[in-house]
Amino acid sequence: MNLSEIIDKIKELKAEKNAVILAHYYTRPEVQDVADYLGDSLGLARQAEKTNADIIVFCGVHFMAETASIISPDKKVLSPVLRAGCSLADSVTGDDLRRWKERNPDGLIVSYVNTSAEVKAWSDYCCTSSNALKVVRSLPNDRQILFVPDKHLGAYIQEVTGRDMELWNGACVVHAPITAEMVLRRLDDFPEADALIHPESACSRDPRVLRHPRAYMYSTAGIIRHAKESPKRQFIVATELETIHELSKQNPAKEFIPIHPDTYCDQMKKVTLPDVLSALEQERHEVRVPEETRRRAVIPIQRMLEIG
Ligand code: SF4
Repeated sequence: MNLSEIIDKIKELKAEKNAVILAHYYTRPEVQDVADYLGDSLGLARQAEKTNADIIVFCGVHFMAETASIISPDKKVLSPVLRAGCSLADSVTGDDLRRWKERNPDGLIVSYVNTSAEVKAWSDYCCTSSNALKVVRSLPNDRQILFVPDKHLGAYIQEVTGRDMELWNGACVVHAPITAEMVLRRLDDFPEADALIHPESACSRDPRVLRHPRAYMYSTAGIIRHAKESPKRQFIVATELETIHELSKQNPAKEFIPIHPDTYCDQMKKVTLPDVLSALEQERHEVRVPEETRRRAVIPIQRMLEIG
């Protein structure tokens, strides 16, 4: 089958089976182009919550499909490739959090959405990079907080909110190598450009970046919004490389400069169009979370969705 036949078949099966394709901005461009909804973690979680489809084909990494299944247990959630992982999700376990809770019975655990269902089940609140500041600001001042697993996002939240938190020692292998020096050098090289930076980056709490008049810290959805609304013509993109596919589609007259050619998440690229087609054809690789874990894990996710 050639590419256009694969795309036609995917469209046909989607209609026949009442299926919807959700894809993250970091997936391959051709996968993004067949998606019914393209988004970052928060946008995709909201979409999974409100869809009327019977089947959700989730193109991203495993924890994202798990989150969709936790939110929509009555839907069949398919992950076209089961082995797509994430360095952040792998850095903390449910047992780690159980032990922390035993030591800190009054403490609150805020977990970034990039975590397993087990970890969410031990968490009090979930957050994404879109709403992390809002979630942490909503918490009572007298409670101790553990933030897992991304230390750079955690440090950024501490810096902006002034809230003291214990930070887990996890990091995203794609964003963590983005340093302040790298960003400042790019800003010097392109004096007309704004730098749009994901807070999983190592520069997330560096005052030289935070106070720079042309540097902005955003979730992926925030980066896309800024590029669209700004009158500027040139942007330095300090997040996963494939985000530039959607940025360029939405803003054909603007220029997007990658912070570095290596900001590439190979896990997000594992899903190909033939994988999407076989998932739909065979309804294979269903992601299901054990009911007891799901019942507990849905609580911090719902709290997050209610906060915003
Ligand atoms: S970009 Fe980083 S946080 Fe996102 S899936 Fe890849 S490893 Fe995980």
